[in-house]
Amino acid sequence: MEKIIEKLKDEARRSWRGPKGEDRAKDLEKYLRIKLEEYSSALDTSQEEILERWEELRSYSAINYYQEANQPKLDSDKVKVFETKTDILMWAAGKKFSCPKCSGHSNNPIKCDRPNCDWKAHGLFKTLGEGIYVFSKAEMAGQDIFAPVESVSAK
Ligand SMILES: [Zn+2]
Repeated sequence: MEKIIEKLKDEARRSWRGPKGEDRAKDLEKYLRIKLEEYSSALDTSQEEILERWEELRSYSAINYYQEANQPKLDSDKVKVFETKTDILMWAAGKKFSCPKCSGHSNNPIKCDRPNCDWKAHGLFKTLGEGIYVFSKAEMAGQDIFAPVESVSAK
């Protein structure tokens, strides 16, 4: 794992000449250490495995890839962790989801299918803070969805 971190720091260092490159390398390491610890405890997976997986998935520069938008916070109680994307789909099948806009029960967890409402969980305002975040370990990615109906108080 230390070898990978050194390699990434080197990439960051070379992305900018002089002291700025060194700053970038330090910032990247700091970010990685914090994120790896957070993901390791949230996913119950070793830091090394997580870093290796990120590196497999990364297709552009480390500076742009290792950003909060790509490794969102996982330590909240609104995150539900699954092994694979298929597991998420199986879990969601047949469930109803509570739309934050119309309070209706939608069959679709990311786009409300109630009459006169087409609220989208991936839109600008997401789930208005009422949704959950589902995360797949295999893809190391997640998304915002409406909260499943059984986990919200009856309306
Ligand atoms: Zn709705």
